[in-house]
Amino acid sequence: MAAAQAFPILTWHSIRVLGNDYADNDPLAFANDLKLLDRLGWTIAPLDQALVDLARGRLAPKTVVLTVDDGAVLDFEDFDHPSCGPQKSLHRHLCEFRDDPTTSARHQPHLTSFVIASPEARSELDRTDYMSLNVWPDHWWRAANDSGLLSIESHSWDHNHGSLQRTVQRDNRRGDFRWIETEAECRAEVDQASDYIERRSGRRPAFFAYPYGQASDFLRLDYLPRRGPELGLHAALGCDPEPVTVASDPWFLPRYMFARDWNDPAQLERMLAELA
Ligand SMILES: [Zn+2]
Repeated sequence: MAAAQAFPILTWHSIRVLGNDYADNDPLAFANDLKLLDRLGWTIAPLDQALVDLARGRLAPKTVVLTVDDGAVLDFEDFDHPSCGPQKSLHRHLCEFRDDPTTSARHQPHLTSFVIASPEARSELDRTDYMSLNVWPDHWWRAANDSGLLSIESHSWDHNHGSLQRTVQRDNRRGDFRWIETEAECRAEVDQASDYIERRSGRRPAFFAYPYGQASDFLRLDYLPRRGPELGLHAALGCDPEPVTVASDPWFLPRYMFARDWNDPAQLERMLAELA
């Protein structure tokens, strides 16, 4: 069989639990989508491996990569939600998928988790946006890496998040990652994040996901191509809804996002059919 020329990266946000139906519960959608991918003949592979296989011209047909953004605890630990009740983590769903005797053995079940590094930013976001539910601890990062099912990667230092009082952006302009555009800001958002994640998780990040899928020209075209490799980074991910090909910019790989690019299983099935 001829090698594939492209693969899609799919993204969820485990923090997005608004109800207990597919469309408003990312962990539930994730569990459902795993089974759909299996049934439709797609093969789950880790991000690093899919990129190497694509570059070497030996990518298996219908390969798909799974990612999750923002690094909420629901990536790895079950969570008792105050209004929606007990929620299984993405890690548990992945384990159940792997251990289900009806699941094909062709997969390498794996999820790339992009976490916000700064402990101060996470605790402030927890207070301002998540009712102090403690959804953003980092004690689980090391166990997640050790599990072999998840990789902890970088989603920047403070996301230049609009809900924070102060970010590393020089004029404190928040809510858009394109405003991270000086050497000092890039060091604070990228280098500092990698250093902290390495200390806390036991492994240095190899991938960076741009907050809001946005990057300044300086960060994407200059800073990361120049500094990324020495920082241990192999690639960076945006969220333009396209498949990854050999022609993709390694410092702006595209991704599809749940709730934006699909919000029901039939839509995901149609989207994948166009890519197969
Ligand atoms: Zn994000």
